[in-house]
Amino acid sequence: MKHAIGIDLGGTKINAGVIRQDGVIVTSQRYETPLEGSGEDILKAIVSAVRTLQADFGALPVGVGSPGLIEYPSGVILGCTPNLPDWQGRSLKQYLENALQVPVQVDNDANAATWGEFRAGAAQGFHHLVMLTLGTGLGSGMIFNGHILRGFHGLGIGFGHMIVEQSGRFCNCGQQGCLEAYVSGKGLARSYQLRGGDLAVKGPEIFDRAARQEPLAQAAVNEFIHMLGVGVTNILNTLAPEALLIGGGISAQGEERLFAPLRTKVAALMSMPLHHPPMIRAAALGPDAGLIGAGFLAIDYLNE
Ligand SMILES: [Zn+2]
Repeated sequence: MKHAIGIDLGGTKINAGVIRQDGVIVTSQRYETPLEGSGEDILKAIVSAVRTLQADFGALPVGVGSPGLIEYPSGVILGCTPNLPDWQGRSLKQYLENALQVPVQVDNDANAATWGEFRAGAAQGFHHLVMLTLGTGLGSGMIFNGHILRGFHGLGIGFGHMIVEQSGRFCNCGQQGCLEAYVSGKGLARSYQLRGGDLAVKGPEIFDRAARQEPLAQAAVNEFIHMLGVGVTNILNTLAPEALLIGGGISAQGEERLFAPLRTKVAALMSMPLHHPPMIRAAALGPDAGLIGAGFLAIDYLNE
């Protein structure tokens, strides 16, 4: 059975493991992402994690999911990778292949998570699929005809920067009114703060407070669901995927707090009738989606 090493490079943690072709994580380990020093320290940490796994499992191919705009298949960082600012214009794939002497596949972390759900999670058997990852930010990926849709240079499928409010809230990308500025952990906290809520309270706690009928939190969560509904409706109206998956930390809010109100909102907004309400569904792999997907990118494309 084929195996590969998957690496999910996160803002605070590097999740590294060995993935088997049937989707099982044979072993995995989380490391702190080196936040002091240069981008090269992060790459050295990845090399060291891979070498530790290779000592036990041999020279397996490697798949890496990284934040930011990653050109595919070259693995060149085009921008928006906060941990690796000095790596813009350079290829992660080339660096890692030189250091490790095995084939390496590098893709955007949201693409990796989407590929993981498609190959081993909640989207197995689908051919057209959109995934939104609601964490601190808003990541997104799309499978079209069984392949990751990346757009020219890999710059596509950034649903987070779909403009949903003209002259709206400022986004990290420098524009105004992007979906991510409302529909993300940061966006929800901002909605709460703008209504006078506590600055220190984070996304999940705001959902808890809304469930306890705190008016400011209820208003913030209502805005979150409304904006998510607008974004999802735009995606469904334009792309008509078989399924739209929602993953990331906020998806743990579950059916009653998140999915049921979202489906109601989308049904009210859609131009075309929402014939298949179960098409909006929760991702299945949780925080390991990126690791599993990165491993599968290596299994599917490098392990022939
Ligand atoms: Zn933006």
